[in-house]
Amino acid sequence: MIPKPASKFLRVKCEDCGNEQIVFDRAASDVLCQVCGATLAKPTGGKAAIRGEILGAFE
Ligand SMILES: [Zn+2]
Repeated sequence: MIPKPASKFLRVKCEDCGNEQIVFDRAASDVLCQVCGATLAKPTGGKAAIRGEILGAFE
């Protein structure tokens, strides 16, 4: 089994406006929607807490 990378990028859909945006899943600071400014991810010290719908992930 191939070990999963420690971090990846997520395609997240904003709950407020439906904008799709790429979010680093270990973001070190708040990630805001580029369209409406809603918070899409919050840093937690490890994996970011994603707010919104995760549509997919890639490395
Ligand atoms: Zn938005």
